[in-house]
Amino acid sequence: DAAKPANFLRTLIERELQDGVYAQRQWGGSPGDAAHHAAGGADPAPVRLRFPPEPNGYLHIGHAKSICLNFGLARDFGGVCHLRFDDTNPEKEEQEYVDAIVEMVQWLGWSWQAHFNEQHTSHLFYASNYFDFMYRAAEHLVERGLAYVDEQSAEAMRANRGDFTTPGTDSPWRNRPVAENLARLREMRDGRHADGSMVLRAKIDMASPNINLRDPALYRIKRAHHHNTGDRWCIYPMYAYAHPIEDALENITHSICTLEFEDQRPWYDWLLARLIEGGLLNTPAPKQHEFGRLNLTYVVTSKRKLKALVDEGHVSGWDDPRMPTLAGMRRRGYTPAAVRKFAEDTGASKTNIWIDYSVLEGALRADLEGQAPRAMAVIDPLPLKLTNWDTVFGAGHVEPCSAPAHPQQPDLGQRSFGLGPVVWIERDDFAEVPAKGFFRLFPGNKVRLKYGMVVECTGCEKDTDGRVTAVLATVVPDTKSGTPGADAVKVKGTITWVGAQDAVAASFHLYDRLFTEPQPDAGDRDFRSVLNPHSKAVVQGYVEPALAAVAAESRFQFERHGYFVADRVLHTAAAPVFNRITGLKDSWGK
Ligand code: ATP
Ligand code: MG
Ligand code: MG
Repeated sequence: DAAKPANFLRTLIERELQDGVYAQRQWGGSPGDAAHHAAGGADPAPVRLRFPPEPNGYLHIGHAKSICLNFGLARDFGGVCHLRFDDTNPEKEEQEYVDAIVEMVQWLGWSWQAHFNEQHTSHLFYASNYFDFMYRAAEHLVERGLAYVDEQSAEAMRANRGDFTTPGTDSPWRNRPVAENLARLREMRDGRHADGSMVLRAKIDMASPNINLRDPALYRIKRAHHHNTGDRWCIYPMYAYAHPIEDALENITHSICTLEFEDQRPWYDWLLARLIEGGLLNTPAPKQHEFGRLNLTYVVTSKRKLKALVDEGHVSGWDDPRMPTLAGMRRRGYTPAAVRKFAEDTGASKTNIWIDYSVLEGALRADLEGQAPRAMAVIDPLPLKLTNWDTVFGAGHVEPCSAPAHPQQPDLGQRSFGLGPVVWIERDDFAEVPAKGFFRLFPGNKVRLKYGMVVECTGCEKDTDGRVTAVLATVVPDTKSGTPGADAVKVKGTITWVGAQDAVAASFHLYDRLFTEPQPDAGDRDFRSVLNPHSKAVVQGYVEPALAAVAAESRFQFERHGYFVADRVLHTAAAPVFNRITGLKDSWGK
């Protein structure tokens, strides 16, 4: 499809499907059941992918890339994408994160419900549900002389692993008899040994040029409560051991991960080949494919660093509207469609990529432009007093005005508001002494109050410090927008406003980039040192009456100001709070 950006994975899957690479796959009962790989018919899914987050934090924009890639490929090829929690590291994992991840994948618009008439209707899986199988597979490797229990200290093990230039050194425990290894492994499982006192390792090749093949660890002893399996286990599988097994049990065809796992691929293949030989897993084995990580300027995309921002109080939480987490972006006002478009537009390649933040904002603006209702808001309010109002219209008169909710979408209807003797205007729409090229309010100049009337500025009021407290003007009769002859009086400036008599007071949360540098964590710089001290400002102002009591998460274009969203947490009808999503134009670097 020429319209789609380059994506080597799509090309690869097309070719494999033509070649029938995955045609003979069997699909049995629930993954992890003993019956799973024995019984069953042909897998009805032509391809199976998975998004496998570790529930140790909130999802960020980098994860969105991976989610859209995996679920998007499954959709395009009529396959399935599983949501799988890679929960093999109990100390850092929490139910709160599991729930937040589920919510965000759904918010993005993806579904792990079965597309086929299978035994199960949901493809939401937990790696921890396979712990029994993983343990059986470990005993199997031991029985075949392919794994051993190593009792070296952690330091000795590290030292004996060697490095890129030096081959490793065999552990003194490497050649102990199978029966002894099996007994030791069972003692580990049964809680007879201290945390960290020994590990189970695969027996491959301590001299391999690939360090990942120098007898990688399979199991460690760790007395930790697990969010899913509770206190049932005191040994936990290592990520590198668990992940290939999870993929194979779920009949995954394409196990897509980021480039840093490239050197793990020979191990991934080695492990699955051994378990297939032993009859524990079916063929064909899933294959790992690596793609380039997405990096976005002016943010950090590492759960560890994002967690530090939260824990150290630099932001209000994981869903702070400045955070590049999906929860934060949602609260900021990003639409799922814009995030999906961004992910799609950035393709998939074999190199890590840096994308400018303006690309993400561009996708957002493109989505909001066509759908966000327009409204007027005054963010830095100053009263404008129309001193001849009562003479022209009579005291107490309010002139009804209206405007389309959206200029290109007549079906969104009209919005109504009133023009009276006092209106709120932006402070910077007035200048006592105008700079060259300033066409808005200054004494002697006429401007149009948008959708209202032309007014002529006559002066201002000031406090004892000389600060302007009100602007004075006269209304010019017979200039009401949309009435015959309204344009007879020519003006160079049109300003936005809200009538004081029906204005709705609101808080505006004005957000800017969280960091001052495009690559906050470049080199060995501490990202904390480049936090933007001006990334958030809270100001009080007014919105037009149509915005009284809008639902949280409603998005608007405030004319001249940009896109805003009613904050999903703080906004109430009594105390409206609008977050600035983004300006009307790209202003980054200005
Ligand atoms: P982090 O480095 O932020 O902790 P992670 O990779 O350790 O992220 P996981 O929960 O393991 O977090 O990630 C789930 C999936 O999301 C993985 O397949 C991972 O490759 C992918 N992923 C994470 N970050 C990015 C990114 N920046 N670009 C593309 N994919 C990513
Ligand atoms: Mg990870
Ligand atoms: Mg990580």
